[in-house]
Amino acid sequence: MPKIEEGIKLDFKDVLLRPKRSTLKSRSEVDLKREYTFRSSGQRYTGIPIIAANMDTIGTFEMALTLHKHVCFVAIHKHYSIEEWVTFAREHKEVLENVAVSSGSSEADFEKLKEIIGHIPELKFICLDVANGYSELFVEFVKKVRAQFPQHTLMAGNVVTGEMVEELLLCGADIIKVGIGPGSVCTTRKKTGVGYPQLSAVLECADAAHGLGGHIISDGGCTCPGDVCKAFGAGADFVMLGGMLAGHDECTGEVVVKPNGRKVKQFYGMSSATAMVKHHGGVAEYRASEGKTVEVPYRGPVEATILDVLGGLRSACTYTGAGKLKELPIRTTFIRVTQQTNEIFQMHEV
Ligand code: 5GP
Repeated sequence: MPKIEEGIKLDFKDVLLRPKRSTLKSRSEVDLKREYTFRSSGQRYTGIPIIAANMDTIGTFEMALTLHKHVCFVAIHKHYSIEEWVTFAREHKEVLENVAVSSGSSEADFEKLKEIIGHIPELKFICLDVANGYSELFVEFVKKVRAQFPQHTLMAGNVVTGEMVEELLLCGADIIKVGIGPGSVCTTRKKTGVGYPQLSAVLECADAAHGLGGHIISDGGCTCPGDVCKAFGAGADFVMLGGMLAGHDECTGEVVVKPNGRKVKQFYGMSSATAMVKHHGGVAEYRASEGKTVEVPYRGPVEATILDVLGGLRSACTYTGAGKLKELPIRTTFIRVTQQTNEIFQMHEV
């Protein structure tokens, strides 16, 4: 008989961070850098753990150049050619410590991954990304990549439950990507009815991962800097952003001027019809497209957006009395709410 889990699961929109008495004098005192040592690779990482998603509009080399200046990270999308990788690596060695090379789980993906890493030994992070991290085939693939690259730090996902986080960590992954269905251009929940509210997924998966000395990425569902703060408060070690970074100069795609003069850029899911036509020549018959294509307002350089996110994060730490980002989950009490913001002047914004 089908079962129902009764305990309610929450999303970012269902909670707020409770302010706490604090001795901090200014936001500028807050340290957003984190230091991690990864459980399987043994590698050390220092940086502000915000990651631009490995989507082909977002995880670009241009994004890596800007985010590196702010000690943030980029999961480079998997559609760059080996030549493009080699040229970038030659000209921007200093950026390589803050990027991951992405791969799907096919044999062709694996061969390309081996070649890229063969050419660029400075690459330390591999992001293994599949829509469904629960498949036995993916688990075998994680083991295979771990055996081939014992010293690289492996990000793997996506999953949303503790038992699968543990399984992937025990198979050799270091950092588990958490999120099924929360993405801004994701249609998985509509197409399949499958998913898990992101805040609860992060709370539960962080607990499972940290018990084994592993780490997690909260991937998808952040719509504003406040959501990024909540993800870190819930225990995410990294937060991955797609839609919040869309529409900028660093994103792939042309600026289009609409008849009303509005400037926009196209943004799409990695399993949208747009992406499948671009990279695979069409949508395969056996699978529904689980992503959509949207036009987002053109927003200029990504720098202002990143500063906005980092500013929000510093401020959240100050409100909760966390002198370092590391202390935010310890200082976090979520309160359940029925309303996030006052919308009275929503239509009058200038
Ligand atoms: P966002 O920050 O835009 O809310 O979420 C970004 C995340 O959405 C990505 O990192 C990835 O995990 C997920 N995603 C990207 N494209 C697709 C897609 O086409 N379908 C689904 N189901 N998820 C996607």
